[in-house]
Amino acid sequence: MTDHSEIFTLTGSELSDGLASGQFSSEEVTKSYLSRIKEVDDKVHAFLSYDEEDMLDQAKSSDQRRASGKILGPLDGVPVCLKDVISAKGQPLTAASKILEKYRSPYDATVTIKLKKAGVVVGGRLNLDEFAMGSSTENSAYGPTCNPWDLGRVPGGSSGGSSAAVAAREAPLTLGSDTGGSIRQPASLCGVVGMKPTYGRVSRYGLAAFASSLDQIGPFSQTVEDTAQLLEIISGHDPLDSTSYPTPVPSFSNEIRQPFKPCKLGLPKEFFGTGMDDDVRKSIEQSIQWYRDKGYELVEISLPTTELSIPVYYVIATAEASSNLARYDGIRYTSRSEHAENAIDVYAKSRGEGFGEEVKRRCILGAYGLSSGYYDAYYLRAQKTRTLIRNDFDKAFEQVDAILTPTSPTPAFKFGEKSEDPISMYLSDIYTISTNLAGLPGISIPCGFTENGLPIGMQLIGQAFEEGKLLSIAHDYDRELQLGRSQPSL
Ligand code: GLN
Repeated sequence: MTDHSEIFTLTGSELSDGLASGQFSSEEVTKSYLSRIKEVDDKVHAFLSYDEEDMLDQAKSSDQRRASGKILGPLDGVPVCLKDVISAKGQPLTAASKILEKYRSPYDATVTIKLKKAGVVVGGRLNLDEFAMGSSTENSAYGPTCNPWDLGRVPGGSSGGSSAAVAAREAPLTLGSDTGGSIRQPASLCGVVGMKPTYGRVSRYGLAAFASSLDQIGPFSQTVEDTAQLLEIISGHDPLDSTSYPTPVPSFSNEIRQPFKPCKLGLPKEFFGTGMDDDVRKSIEQSIQWYRDKGYELVEISLPTTELSIPVYYVIATAEASSNLARYDGIRYTSRSEHAENAIDVYAKSRGEGFGEEVKRRCILGAYGLSSGYYDAYYLRAQKTRTLIRNDFDKAFEQVDAILTPTSPTPAFKFGEKSEDPISMYLSDIYTISTNLAGLPGISIPCGFTENGLPIGMQLIGQAFEEGKLLSIAHDYDRELQLGRSQPSL
């Protein structure tokens, strides 16, 4: 019997089991998380808002369904909180921007509908870098989130609220979005599991768009098992997102329970060069050895074009962002400047007052790269190079089943350490960005701690739509080491 004061420490699958066996109700589970949020979120600041009454109503409905034997799935009654770029009808969606301060979503995102159909308690709204642009959550207009392992350090970003909430045990499961690493990097810095699915696996309908050819929604949790379960719920073709793919969704949670034969993992030599922190290197080497000892074959591979992934990403992502963010014009969606005297003023001042520095920088860069005269030199070349990056991966996957790398070159850094220097911030995504450019699935799993007790993450990259295999390889490691279960003291 679980001590009720400890409910908030459980994983999604433990909560599911406890609800099924009647150890506790969804209302008790939800109350446990709400009181945990009240206890620690002043320090962590993972949440931008939460609707207590709505969460408790959803929990009570779940308990009623259970009492009448009509649960909607294994996660019925389990809370899942959302990055504040994913629409939930009637709830705020700020994208951590001043410009959307007063906005409320008029409809549910497809992932939110899917969660509701699974009986999940759709919970609070999580902090991020404004419009998901950043790697530290320092770009939030509502103040940063702190890393639960060391409150003086960043939780990573842009989904820093989503990773910190799981690490601080303020939510068992959360969703984030990943355009260049925004799920995997904060998962790594906070010591939890985070996964970016294949581009097209999960509908983007109802996600505030940053860079539409790169954005994907994905789960955070303490274990790979929970990530598999949550991914299964949110995946699938959606006629409302023309880039979602009509491929069937296998039961990932069943797939990882099957016996799995060790396979071949690739180690890209370009990822193991300079710039990696010593503790990170040591941890990754131990993980490589772990797989070897289990009978996996580890081979060196080459992804020669990856060194171009950061410049390519910052041309393509900013171009798409400048176009996507054009809709925030002071007319629809957003706050309108009170200082505008004519129509042009409405656009210029509303955007000037509403957007933060990084968002402005990206809109300007993106518009520049798309302008006539520069389009061929920047945007078109970046698109061509993107194809070369994808080809590198295709070639690698002729040899190996998955690719193993660090998730981030360093553990969590201190506030202010990189925020004055955008380029050094951009470089912290060196290991994650190429996966988005190639549209492939990637997962970060906790694989160790630094000497100072900061978490370290390992990344596994898989073939398109082979999430089942990728999760099995990750689960093999994670079910034995269970490092995402270690809890920071707060
Ligand atoms: N850190 C990268 C950026 O700033 C990636 C962000 C993301 O994945 N949303 O663009």
